[in-house]
Amino acid sequence: MFNRVAFIGIGLIGSSIARVMRRDNLASTIIACARTDETLDAAKRLNIADETTKDIAEAVRDADLVMICTPVSTYGAIAQAMAPVLKPGAIVTDVGSVKESAVTAVMPHLPEGVHFVPGHPIAGTENSGPEAGFETLFEGRWFLITPPPGTDQTAIDKIAALWKQAGSQIDYLEPAHHDQVLAITSHLPHLIAYTIVGTATDLEDQIKSEVVKYSASGFRDFTRIAASDPVMWRDIFIANRDAVLEMLGRLSEDLAGLQRAIRVGDGEKLERLFRRTREIRRGVVEAGQHIPPSPDDTDPKS
Ligand code: NAP
Repeated sequence: MFNRVAFIGIGLIGSSIARVMRRDNLASTIIACARTDETLDAAKRLNIADETTKDIAEAVRDADLVMICTPVSTYGAIAQAMAPVLKPGAIVTDVGSVKESAVTAVMPHLPEGVHFVPGHPIAGTENSGPEAGFETLFEGRWFLITPPPGTDQTAIDKIAALWKQAGSQIDYLEPAHHDQVLAITSHLPHLIAYTIVGTATDLEDQIKSEVVKYSASGFRDFTRIAASDPVMWRDIFIANRDAVLEMLGRLSEDLAGLQRAIRVGDGEKLERLFRRTREIRRGVVEAGQHIPPSPDDTDPKS
C-alpha cells in the first residue's frame, strides 16, 4: 500500500497501527521518530520499525505517508520541521483526538502538493507507549476522517483503505462538528472521571482506604478512565476548549436540576432520567461499542 511510512510518535496508537502495517505487509519501510531512546529502542525490539531517528526532517524525507501520532500540542512544531523536506504527493495524516486545532496547526506549514488527511480512531486504552499497543485495537471501532474542503480524494481513499485494513469502520465529519461530538462522548466523561477520582483522593485517610477497598461499586470504572495519559488529556482540554466549556455548561445545568430533584425528593424526575439513560446503554451495546478495549482490561459489567 505504501513504500516509506514515517511515524512521528509511536506510542499506544502509532505502534498499534504500525503492528497492523507489519502484519499485513502494507509498508516496505517503516521509520519511527520520537524524542527518547527508550521509545525508539522499543520500536526496534517490537519489530515495528526498520529505521529510527530523533530528527523529524530525516524521518519524513522520501516518505509517501507520514503518520503524526503525538499529543496534539506538538503538531505545529512537527509540521514546521517536516515542511521543507516533504516530497510532492506525500500524504500527511494524524490520529489526534481534536481535529479543528489539528487542521489549523498543520495545514499552513505544508507545501503545495502535499495532502493532509486528518483522522481520529475512536479506540484506545489508558496505557501509553509502544509496548501498550496491540494490532486488534481498532477492530470494530470507528475511524473518523475530517478532511478540510478541497482535500485530494485519492489521498482520503488511501487513508480510509488503511484503517479498513485495521478493522475499522470509516465515517466522515467536518472538523468542528467532530470536536463537538467528541466533547460530550469522550472529553467530558474523562473530565468527570478525573474530578471524581481527584475528589476521592482529597478525602480523609479513613474514607480514602475504603473508597479503594469497595471500588467495585462504581468508582473502579472511573479510576480506569482517570488513569489515562496526563499529557494527552491536558492537550485535549486546551485544544478543544470551546466545545468542552459549552458541554460543561449544559452538564452543570442538568446537575443542578438533579441536585434539586434529590433535595425535594422528586423521585419521578430521577426515575424518568435513569430509564432514558438505560436505553442509551442498550443502544451502545446494540452498536457493538461496549466491548472492553483490550484482553487484559476485561470489565465483567461491559
Ligand atoms: P503515547 O502512547 O503517549 O505516544 C505518544 C508518542 O509520541 C510516543 O512515542 C512519544 O515518544 C512521542 N512523542 C511525544 N512528543 C513528541 C514530539 N514532540 N516529537 C516526536 N515524538 C513525540 O500517546 P497515544 O495514546 O498513542 O496518543 C497519540 C495521539 O493519539 C494523541 O494525539 C491522542 O490524542 C490520540 N489518541 C489517543 C487515544 C488513546 O486512547 N490513547 C485514542 C485516540 C486518539 P517520546 O516520549 O519518546 O517522544
